[in-house]
Amino acid sequence: MKKLFDNINKLMMGRYGVDSFNKFLIYGAFILSILRLFLRDPDLIRITSFFIWLFIGFSAFRVFSKNIEKRYQENVKFIKATKPLRAEIELLKLKIQNRGNVKYIKCPNCKTVVKVPANVGKIKIKCRKCKNEFIKRV
Ligand SMILES: [Zn+2]
Repeated sequence: MKKLFDNINKLMMGRYGVDSFNKFLIYGAFILSILRLFLRDPDLIRITSFFIWLFIGFSAFRVFSKNIEKRYQENVKFIKATKPLRAEIELLKLKIQNRGNVKYIKCPNCKTVVKVPANVGKIKIKCRKCKNEFIKRV
């Protein structure tokens, strides 16, 4: 067993490995594989298969790549591009965790999310970012 790990370590030496972008590609391929099970149209199945192999192939290429700087830059771009989406998912998680106690209201001026107590009626809310004040029923 130790020899196997040694060999894997030797194989991965100087190679890029796994990052967030790779995880996204693998999850993407996995979700597409499940979706493909429900498809009936042969053209759609072919297109889905193509993307599954593209995701897996690109992910494998990135894991074993020796151009570490370039792969790192790709990951930075990926993280930047998905930042708004990840922020929405985080907010949704918070909303579910704190439902009933806290409400999350978007400032009408700068769209910053403001946390306020729930079920207290009409309140004056002051945005912590742009200092805009507005009245809202919560
Ligand atoms: Zn604001």
